[in-house]
Amino acid sequence: MPLMDMRRDDRHDFAGLAWPRQPLRELGPEFYAELAPQGLPQPELRLYSDDAARLLGLTPPTDAARRAEWAALFAGNRVDPDCLPLATVYAGHQFGNWAGQLGDGRAHLLGELAALDGAQNAGHASWEVQLKGAGRTPFSRFGDGRAVLRSSLREFLASEAMWHLGVPTTRALCLVDSPLPVRRERIERAAVVTRLAPSFMRIGHFEHFSHSGQHAALRRLLDAWIARFEPDCAQAGNPALALLQRVSERSAELVAAWQAVGFVHGVLNTDNLSMLGWTLDYGPFGFLDAFDPDYTPNTSDTSSRYCWGRQPAAVHWSLYALGAALKPLIGDAQRIDDALQRFPAAFDAAWRARLRAKLGLDVASAEHDALARDWLELLHRARADWTISFRRLHDAADGAMPPLLAAQFSGCTDAWLAWLARWRALSSAPARAAMPALNPHLVLRHHLAQHAIDAAERGDFEPAQALHDALREPYRETAANAAFAAPPPPDAPPACLSCSS
Ligand code: AMP
Ligand code: MG
Repeated sequence: MPLMDMRRDDRHDFAGLAWPRQPLRELGPEFYAELAPQGLPQPELRLYSDDAARLLGLTPPTDAARRAEWAALFAGNRVDPDCLPLATVYAGHQFGNWAGQLGDGRAHLLGELAALDGAQNAGHASWEVQLKGAGRTPFSRFGDGRAVLRSSLREFLASEAMWHLGVPTTRALCLVDSPLPVRRERIERAAVVTRLAPSFMRIGHFEHFSHSGQHAALRRLLDAWIARFEPDCAQAGNPALALLQRVSERSAELVAAWQAVGFVHGVLNTDNLSMLGWTLDYGPFGFLDAFDPDYTPNTSDTSSRYCWGRQPAAVHWSLYALGAALKPLIGDAQRIDDALQRFPAAFDAAWRARLRAKLGLDVASAEHDALARDWLELLHRARADWTISFRRLHDAADGAMPPLLAAQFSGCTDAWLAWLARWRALSSAPARAAMPALNPHLVLRHHLAQHAIDAAERGDFEPAQALHDALREPYRETAANAAFAAPPPPDAPPACLSCSS
């Protein structure tokens, strides 16, 4: 049965259009390698996202036959004749050093499918569909082309969680696993996550063509990107400069959104930064529990280059790498510098606006910003839980003192009470009313993901399913999701996440 039979034909007529276009192909053969995925032995569909399936008009696979079909397709075992998968080439700076050519070492782009619902798609007309972990490609270097269940489950849960938190991110359609053994620090199970994004284009794609001297190809890439995603940049006097400015503005908003929900990406190399300004490539990421601006979930990042507090600087650094890559097309180095110097102020404005809103403050004054700054200092001093403190503050408006909130500041009660008095005086009722919609009750804390992984590795995907369900409504408090809102238990082992995935 072809893939299009899995679609809801009541909403779209896909006859003959299962994989209509691969815009990358039009750019030329130097951009990709064409190859079929290797697939997985005995693939099992373990999880899928109803919401993501709906974006494409796919009918969720409710019976065994459909599940087997999804497993075969999204493990890369069955490739329809009109689907011509490819892996793309990119390069990148990793931890500040030029890493040279990288590329999709374990990702296969199946093609692009039309989006059904414009609103949910943030205005994008189509989604690229990519398998991650379906085998080696010409860009695998020393890697095996595989992804393990542990990291695939983290990516699946995180991308869906972030989407529902309202943070721009690639989506996860489904997770398929297999008994195929994969060697990391130990032997683990293989899995494939199917990811969706309007485009998986990275800063590193532009770097590759720039630094290898393929400037005609770089120009084609720029023109195609602008024609597709930023047509108004084509009208600018210097389209490449206009694009750089645009990516910089979007990235400032993205980092502000990360900071606000306490998300730490973990590996902000230029090969992991999206040109669309979406979160991309979930590896050793983490969400803040107790607030520490130096929180660095990636244990391989020994200098904390990519800790929570340095994410804005890390992204700014990467934008300079994009500026350098676009230099042959922009021409004037001074104009690149001028454009990128606006990033810190853009980030600062976006972050301060988010922080004020999270705190129920609707005035952009020095006094209100000082109150917000002092709140962060207080959270840090008390090592208060990021998510719980913001969420519960709302309940303290009318003289009440939620015990869970007070408990966060038990080590510095006087400072906390003094701050609270200022907050009660400066926050406004309408802005406070918006706080529950801005401060999530649930985020994908490490211990929650780990609990789901431990069960999944034993073949039990119910905890992962329950967690996925809860993370779809992170701003609601229900009896069912209360257990997922708690901070890590005191005996939870510390996160130990590396790039090995
Ligand atoms: P990452 O650290 O996951 O962002 O990956 C950096 C580069 O290594 C990218 O080019 C990936 O495609 C590649 N890579 C990571 N893991 C593997 C793997 N297991 N097999 C092949 N390539 C990989
Ligand atoms: Mg990557």
